[in-house]
Amino acid sequence: MKTPSPERLSNRRIIEESERVLMPTYGRFPVALVRGRGCRVWDADGKEYLDFLSGVAVCALGHAHPEITSAIREQAGQLVHVSNYFHIEPQVRLARLLVDHSFADRVFFCNSGAEANEGAIKLARKYAKERIDPGRFEIIAMAGSFHGRTLAALTATGQEKVKAGFDPLPPGFVHVPFDDAAALEAAVTEKTAAVLIEPIQGESGVRIPSDGFLAAARGVCDRHGILLILDEIQTGIGRTGTLFAYEQCGIVPDIMTLAKGLGNGVPIGALLATEKIAQAFGPGSHGSTFGGNPLACAAAAATLSVILRDGPRGETLLDNALRMGAHLLAGLNAIRAKHPDVTDVRGRGLMIGIELNRDAKPVVDEALSRGLIANAAAGNVVRLLPPLIVTEAEADEAIEILDAALLRASVPSATAC
Ligand SMILES: *Cc1c(COP(=O)(O)O)cnc(C)c1O
Repeated sequence: MKTPSPERLSNRRIIEESERVLMPTYGRFPVALVRGRGCRVWDADGKEYLDFLSGVAVCALGHAHPEITSAIREQAGQLVHVSNYFHIEPQVRLARLLVDHSFADRVFFCNSGAEANEGAIKLARKYAKERIDPGRFEIIAMAGSFHGRTLAALTATGQEKVKAGFDPLPPGFVHVPFDDAAALEAAVTEKTAAVLIEPIQGESGVRIPSDGFLAAARGVCDRHGILLILDEIQTGIGRTGTLFAYEQCGIVPDIMTLAKGLGNGVPIGALLATEKIAQAFGPGSHGSTFGGNPLACAAAAATLSVILRDGPRGETLLDNALRMGAHLLAGLNAIRAKHPDVTDVRGRGLMIGIELNRDAKPVVDEALSRGLIANAAAGNVVRLLPPLIVTEAEADEAIEILDAALLRASVPSATAC
């Protein structure tokens, strides 16, 4: 017997209703995506798009990956939630994968990036006060950074627009210029507990620090006996071509936060630390009802297993991310001469920014109308975050659309007059 399919709504109907019932917190594209497969998604009117945003670096394995779908289905049919009053097998399995493939000895699971950073701030403060010096509580963060929207995370964020209207903000955060080890060293005082850094700043336009900055920051922390926290919420889980971006800098952090790519779309965040630091937390010092629930952890464990295993030709998805990232950078540099408004093309792995000397939004909108999803970061940067499974043909298709969109968006529209 055939079950009647629910009424299919058009883009327009969904958008109209969305604008009535949802809080006006986002500047959304005028599109309602309803289905996905691999690197492609379809909207409610049936239009196809190549997804080079991946839900903001979330769907690393693309959409509807058969193994993730079946891991979710299987776990949903077995056990979705029980609370952290119990030991949870998928949570243990996921923590083991993270510990075995990182600097960390222990993991705490939560539900988002902001929540992971809240946990990191709490852990760093508790460790510093109790095990370094009772007067240490301050976190030094970077100008231009983004750490999330909760009160402590937005206070740690180095962008005024994220904080406007929400004061009084919690005390204990200071900011120094990004990529300036001398400024960082000079900002350390007897109150400093930790330094918080994104290895590459994502939301402020794929800003890559100079080689040696993270190692210099590690040196500052070691000299002063304070902690280095890396926010790898965007850079982690293969985005930059290694499982974690810190692996490319020859250092390890003391604490690291993850979220976006970890569950391939199922909400999950994680806080990782060394044994010594993790021991600052005890029963009752931190928690989350949903954090690490069986469903989210089963999805994340399946995601990590797929990312870490060898492909048919011995190549991992990390290798693919490096190769496709280099291919995209080469292709974008090849078309650059045609576009004088492009001032920089940069990236690590599949975290790529095209910097313009003007607003990036018209280019992103033009690309969308031509069937490519990207976004504008920091106003003037077109940001590409394709799935790690992206193929060379898909990368070439994206370059072709961007080439056309850059040309089109740079000429004054024919309909404007
Ligand atoms: C997205 C992001 C966050 C916030 O994550 P949410 O899940 O939206 O709370 C924090 N830090 C970085 C670097 C991010 O890219």
